[in-house]
Amino acid sequence: MKQPYDIAIIGAGICGLAHALAAAKRGKRCIVIERNLAAVGASIRNFGFITVSGQERGACWQRAKRSRDIWADIAGPAGISITQRSMLVLAQNIETLNVLEAFRNDDMGEDCRLLSRSEMEHYTDLKTSHLKGALLSPHELRVESKDAIPQLTRWLAEHWGVTFLWGTTVHTVEPPHIQTSQGTIHAESVIICPGDDLRTLFPERLSTYSLTRCKLQMMRLASGGIQANTPAIMSDLGVERYRGYHHLPGHSALKRCLQRDKSAALAAGVHLIAVRSADGSQIVGDSHVYMDEPDPFTDAGVDELILTEHDSVFKHTPPVITRWNGCYTSGPSTMVMDRVSDSVRIVLITSGTGASTSFAIAEETLTDLWG
Ligand SMILES: Cc1cc2nc3c(=O)[nH]c(=O)nc-3n(C[C@H](O)[C@H](O)[C@H](O)COP(=O)(O)OP(=O)(O)OC[C@H]3O[C@@H](n4cnc5c(N)ncnc54)[C@H](O)[C@@H]3O)c2cc1C
Repeated sequence: MKQPYDIAIIGAGICGLAHALAAAKRGKRCIVIERNLAAVGASIRNFGFITVSGQERGACWQRAKRSRDIWADIAGPAGISITQRSMLVLAQNIETLNVLEAFRNDDMGEDCRLLSRSEMEHYTDLKTSHLKGALLSPHELRVESKDAIPQLTRWLAEHWGVTFLWGTTVHTVEPPHIQTSQGTIHAESVIICPGDDLRTLFPERLSTYSLTRCKLQMMRLASGGIQANTPAIMSDLGVERYRGYHHLPGHSALKRCLQRDKSAALAAGVHLIAVRSADGSQIVGDSHVYMDEPDPFTDAGVDELILTEHDSVFKHTPPVITRWNGCYTSGPSTMVMDRVSDSVRIVLITSGTGASTSFAIAEETLTDLWG
């Protein structure tokens, strides 16, 4: 190993990889230390949906735009396929349409547009006759995370010279010494990107941020439900949920409408995102249950709520071929950067937006660390 390193990054999820890229671009010698033999956390369990429209106004929205641009720049060189572009947000009722109209007229609605009835009918896989309208956002990208994260890892190693140390748990961080299950690593600076592990490193500091964890249920459906030219789909429950719509006129009325019509889905934190993979299958989800110690059990009733929502907008809901859970750290703000010392930072994405914002957050962390 090329010790000592300029920087060690703990965690090989998207947050850690984004920091490795930002450090490597600055010419720094970088090592990524990961407890598991591959990244198997939230970063490969998600939709791979790089979402701009709907992100919280201000820093989060700006970070999503910057991160989307970085995904677009690196996808080709890293061999990552962009499997979908843009997003269609479906208005299943007039209250949702009112919020989407307000969004379109907001500065965050730049380049988004409401589709005409004939444009909606173009999407023959959707139950368009049931819809009051739809907003097309051109800003989104989608990658297949289970492939994209290993591809990004390989590219960082081969093209940028980043060292990866797998199957290695970090026990303590006191630069230049990092004590791990494989011995001591030497690095001048350290960035800790631990995902939803809030107990191994600096738990006393993390306990001050009012953090908890969020468990989500996801499914993959067989091919045949979504056609190749359909963008990523979000339904009205997503408009209720995503923070970027919360300030808009009509949002309270939408919430009341969904509490009346979809109370079980709201109670389970269910909303619908449906994205298409290259083989025609689709990932659909998800649900949100908040607890400090998420249980490992998939609730069939919650999956049913997600499939019911899918069925309400798609003409065909193919059989489920895979089910899984994911978990992320959740907190009052969209992310946390904790300054442990002059040379150590902890970075947590606390809003389920890491695929969409990590690249920009990594640039900010390194500016904070090195100027
Ligand atoms: C089901 C689901 C769907 C989602 N959908 C989307 C989406 O479509 N778009 C979006 O933007 N975001 C989405 N998210 C959120 C996004 O996936 C997360 O915000 C992001 O993956 C967090 O990345 P991370 O690197 O911080 O965490 P992780 O991917 O969990 O990685 C953290 C890594 O740190 C390692 N680690 C922790 N402690 C140590 C230690 N002491 N020593 C060594 N290694 C350690 C862990 O083993 C782990 O591999 C979703 C999340 C889930 C769960």
